[in-house]
Amino acid sequence: MYIDQTEEQRMILEMVRRLTEEKIEPRAAEIDESNDFPTDVKELFTEHGLLKMALPEEYGGIGADVSTIGMVLEEISKVSLTAAGLMMSIHLIIDLLFYAASYEQKKRFFTIISEGNKVGSITVTEPNAGSDLSSMRTRAVLKGDDYIINGTKCFISMGGAADLFAIFVYTAPERKLEGLSYFMVEKGAPGLSTGKIENPMGLRGGVSAEVVMEDLRVSKEDLLGHEGEGFKILVNCLNVERLWFASMALGISQGALDYAVQYAKERVQFGRPIAEFQGIQFMLADMAILIETGRSVTYTAASQIDQGIRDVSSISAIAKCFASDAAMKVTTDAVQILGGYGYMKDYPVERMMRDAKATQIAAGTNQIQRVLIARSLLGK
Ligand SMILES: Cc1cc2nc3c(=O)[nH]c(=O)nc-3n(C[C@H](O)[C@H](O)[C@H](O)COP(=O)(O)OP(=O)(O)OC[C@H]3O[C@@H](n4cnc5c(N)ncnc54)[C@H](O)[C@@H]3O)c2cc1C
Repeated sequence: MYIDQTEEQRMILEMVRRLTEEKIEPRAAEIDESNDFPTDVKELFTEHGLLKMALPEEYGGIGADVSTIGMVLEEISKVSLTAAGLMMSIHLIIDLLFYAASYEQKKRFFTIISEGNKVGSITVTEPNAGSDLSSMRTRAVLKGDDYIINGTKCFISMGGAADLFAIFVYTAPERKLEGLSYFMVEKGAPGLSTGKIENPMGLRGGVSAEVVMEDLRVSKEDLLGHEGEGFKILVNCLNVERLWFASMALGISQGALDYAVQYAKERVQFGRPIAEFQGIQFMLADMAILIETGRSVTYTAASQIDQGIRDVSSISAIAKCFASDAAMKVTTDAVQILGGYGYMKDYPVERMMRDAKATQIAAGTNQIQRVLIARSLLGK
């Protein structure tokens, strides 16, 4: 890895590496097989403060920046994308609160998250509104001091396990993207429930679920920012989410490459390790090229966010697109290097390949990332 790290980042990553190798790697295949939410991983992360790292110190965090969280997510994803997704979920909520919450809201929600055992959901997609958010149907209607929300969201990561839901709704549908708003709602609010839990191809155990709102009553105090600011808040949140998806895609790729290198050194055919064949060596080299290039753009983008540079939509889309397309290629090639064994569930690379696919779709498909990059090029 050619990315500079501070002494603090190196220490954090060393701790995370130890945890993932000892406790998560041996569980990764079971989590994938069962599709059950990994409560033990949540407890492990709670014990080590990984579910509040980005909180300010007065709330028990270490004020970790976007780059540091990205590095941790990358490290965890080498062995389990689901575990990394669990950690990312609450950090997306923290990031959203940093950006959009009032002083009182920060105090209230940071106090809840400071318990260190909370999971979050970014609740946006609907059955008829994926890439095209303007066709969303979820509505919040103001009645007195409360909003009443009705609608159904789908494919919501951690939707079946979250403690905090950032819910994206229309407050003024006639104003299109300027009529969208964001609410922060706690689990257990009357009218908020989990619908169908999905049985996905990858990212299993991430309790991807429908989130149903039936006359969900939320106070005006749960509105983030002002009415109509939802889209601006979402764009900011997506810039960070795309970067973190890029980090996680890099982690999957690195895990697959490490596994393929080891296997190629051990597997003997035609009287020598397959690593001695140039055909295999070139595949490994191409995998490394993709990973290091992806890392470079990802951590450049992360550092821009940490420096407070606002217009990062294009570079975070480039990072997400490149790293996730790379993960698909790298994991597919890792399966190829393991041959028939790679295709079997006894080895982790087929799971990595299924997990890699999630990174090309979530947080906006890679087609939509390309639309964003082109818009920026064309000045639209
Ligand atoms: C693993 C995973 C986790 C997810 N987690 C969450 C979550 O936590 N919260 C949440 O709200 N959502 C989540 N989603 C949903 C995800 O954001 C959507 O699936 C995604 O935005 C695409 O929407 P869609 O599935 O409706 O596809 P559609 O929008 O119907 O797209 C179908 C196809 O058409 C393409 N397409 C659409 N419009 C264009 C265009 N203008 N130009 C070119 N091609 C286009 C798409 O790229 C895609 O290939 C998750 C999805 C997955 C797979």
